[in-house]
Amino acid sequence: MSATAISSIRIHRQWQPFRDGTYRCSGGRSAEGFDSTIVEITSRDGQRGYGEMAPLGSFYDPAFAEGARAAMRELAPQLLGADASGVEALNRRMDLLLKGHPYAKSAIDMALWDLAGKHSGLSLASMSGGAEGDSLALYRSIAQQAPDAMAARAQKYIAEGYRRLQVKVGLDVNEDIARLEAVRAAIPSDTVLFCDANASWGTSETRQFLMATGNLDYTLEQPCASYEENLAIRRACERPLVLDETIDGADVLLRAIADGLVDGITIKLARVGGLTKAKLVRDIAIARNLKITIEDTGGAEIDTAAYCGLMLSTPEILRQHTVDFHNWVTVSNAKADFRIADGEMTLPSGPGLGVEVDIEALGEPIFQSAL
Ligand SMILES: [Mg+2]
Repeated sequence: MSATAISSIRIHRQWQPFRDGTYRCSGGRSAEGFDSTIVEITSRDGQRGYGEMAPLGSFYDPAFAEGARAAMRELAPQLLGADASGVEALNRRMDLLLKGHPYAKSAIDMALWDLAGKHSGLSLASMSGGAEGDSLALYRSIAQQAPDAMAARAQKYIAEGYRRLQVKVGLDVNEDIARLEAVRAAIPSDTVLFCDANASWGTSETRQFLMATGNLDYTLEQPCASYEENLAIRRACERPLVLDETIDGADVLLRAIADGLVDGITIKLARVGGLTKAKLVRDIAIARNLKITIEDTGGAEIDTAAYCGLMLSTPEILRQHTVDFHNWVTVSNAKADFRIADGEMTLPSGPGLGVEVDIEALGEPIFQSAL
């Protein structure tokens, strides 16, 4: 058995309360924090790689925290002894052994990339194509409130240095129009604004919103839930259109490109199944010069380092923005040298994810499987 064979897989759970209190969505959906699952993969030579997956509640994507852990318990024993350096081969093996559940595979795949970096001495950005520039633009999301409260929140973020804001819409469309108008009027004209309906509107509401806001500068993100509804809107929408929830893998992106549906995409690691599949989706998007955001559904330092590493190897000219999830929560799971200034974040250097996992903070593993 080679030195890079997988000798053990451990799973930890970390509750990560939100710094800014309860996260609320329409329909009474809410979350108090991220229920994160962290995977530690050890190879025979004693190197360790870490991955993390945290869904946003159970309502955002077809994913939930206990489901991830159950799927990992199913998969982990079947991966022991396999060569950890064969990351793509192991992805195919996971897909063979367990249909679906990409969110659970995401943390395992992330740990394999971290381990490959530890073995090669290369950072994730180097392994995934090579870093371009040294920092990433961050955006701040403005949660749904009354229009004046959202405008005040936008001004606060601008004062903190952010240059890119995402206005959450998707409730009553007339209120949503007022929300966008209030925020746009309250911030400098060069602020990049995204309007994210999180798949909450029908085509009727979306058309109404587009007509009423035709004179404002913003990018529209995921207005409707289904592919077909968004395609119908595309034909009536002159402004840039970005899809997020719809983009769950390479298949749908190829179809969206063929249909001329998207100008940009948001890739979430857990939704597509990890860094390996996110890189494939990212590379297809690069081939068609689509604007690209890479992020995830939640987590702390381990997860942030992963999606940011892949974002940093995405051509600068195509990069939209990403998030600093480790700053959303009151706990930490790794020492990581993220630095934020003027709405830009630089990443930790070092092999793999470049973070030093705080195993004490994770506590005892809730599950382990070893040779
Ligand atoms: Mg979105």
